[in-house]
Amino acid sequence: MSVYLDYNATSPIDERVLECMIDVYKNHIGNADSRTNTFGEDSRNIVETARKQVSSLLSVNSDEIFFTSGATESNNIALQGLRDYARESGKNHIITTAIEHKAVLETVKHLEKQGFDVDIVPPGASGRVNENDILKRISDKTLVVSVMHVNNETGIIQPVKEIGDELQKKSILFHVDATQSCGKLVEEIKSLKYNMLSFSAHKLMGPQGIGVLVLRKKAYKLPPVKPVYFGGQQEHGIRPGTIPVALVAGCGKACEIAETEYKENNDRAIKIKTELLKLLDESGLTYHVNGDDFFCIPSTLNICIDGVSSEALMISTKHLCGISNGSACTSKSYSPSYVLTAMGIPVEQIESSIRVSWGHSTAKDEVLKNFKELLNMAAQLKS
Ligand code: PMP
Repeated sequence: MSVYLDYNATSPIDERVLECMIDVYKNHIGNADSRTNTFGEDSRNIVETARKQVSSLLSVNSDEIFFTSGATESNNIALQGLRDYARESGKNHIITTAIEHKAVLETVKHLEKQGFDVDIVPPGASGRVNENDILKRISDKTLVVSVMHVNNETGIIQPVKEIGDELQKKSILFHVDATQSCGKLVEEIKSLKYNMLSFSAHKLMGPQGIGVLVLRKKAYKLPPVKPVYFGGQQEHGIRPGTIPVALVAGCGKACEIAETEYKENNDRAIKIKTELLKLLDESGLTYHVNGDDFFCIPSTLNICIDGVSSEALMISTKHLCGISNGSACTSKSYSPSYVLTAMGIPVEQIESSIRVSWGHSTAKDEVLKNFKELLNMAAQLKS
C-alpha cells in the first residue's frame, strides 16, 4: 500500500479530533450564535473552549482568536481588511516575499491593481529571505509586512522572529502566515512579535475547512483589520457566517493535542528525516537538498535527484509513496515551482525535485521500506 508523505499539503485527521467532532455533530446541534435557546448556549460553550485551546497553544488571549474557513481566508482578511486603514493613514506600501503561498501573493497582487505599492523580496539560495532585505525597504508609507513562518515547499524557516522584533519598534503591522509551523514550532511562535497570524487546522491533524486569524491587541485595541465581507455578527463581524461548531471543536482539539505532544512529534520527525537522508546517501544516486537544511523543519525534505524527472518518479511510484513536487494549490499547473525558481534553482533541477513531508502518524518502518523502493525506481529512471 502507498504511504502518505504529503503532510504539507494536508495531514490526516487525528482519531481523537475525529471523535470529538463526531460527538459535536451528534450531540451539540445548536447554532453557537442563537441566544434564544439552550442549544445555542451549549454550542457557544464548545466554541469558547476551542478558542481557549487555540489561544493556549499560541500563548495569546482567547479574544484575539477569530475562526475562519482556513489560512487562505485568514490571509485575505488580514491583508484586504487593511484597505480602509490604508486610506485613512495614507500608507499604501506592502512588503512580502516571493516564496509566500499564493493566498498572500495573489492577494497583494490584487491590492497592487487597486493602487497599493507592493515590494516582493526574493529569498537567497538557502530558501530563506534575508531580514535586512525586508527591513531596508521600509518607508514611512509602509502599511504592512507579510512573511510566512515556514515555506510549504521547502520547509525552510524564515526570519520572522528578527523581522517582528524590528517592526515592533517601528509600529509597522506584521502578518505571519504560520500555516506550516503551527503546532510544530510551538515555542518559536509563542515568542514572535506580530499583529496578525494565520493558519489552517488541517496541517496539524485537524479538520479541513477551518482556520484561524489571530489579531493581537495593542493597548486593548485590535489591529485596524475590517471585514472583507458582510452578513453577520459572528466572530465580531471579522468573519461573518454561521460558526461550524464541529470544525471549530476539531481545530481546538488538534491544538490541544499539538500543545501536549509537539516535543515527541518533533523527535519522531527528526528520526525519520535522518533515516531518509541515510537511504539517499546509500542509494548511489546523486542528490541535493533544496535550501539550507540547517533552517529546515524536521518533517520536510525537498530534494533534487539528478537526472530523474520528478513527474516520472511520482507516477511510477504512486503505489509506494504519495509525494509531491510542489504545493498542492498550484499542482494543476505544470510550470516549475515558483518557490524553487525564486531561490535561483535551474529549471532542470526543479524538474528533478520532489517534496516529501510527514507527521506524527507516519509509520517509520513502512515509510523507510517504501522510500527505499522509490529510490530503486529513481535509479532505473535516471537518464
Ligand atoms: N499558507 C501556507 C503556507 C500553506 O501551506 C497553505 C496550504 N497549502 C495555505 C496558506 C492555505 O491553506 P488553506 O488551503 O487551508 O486555506
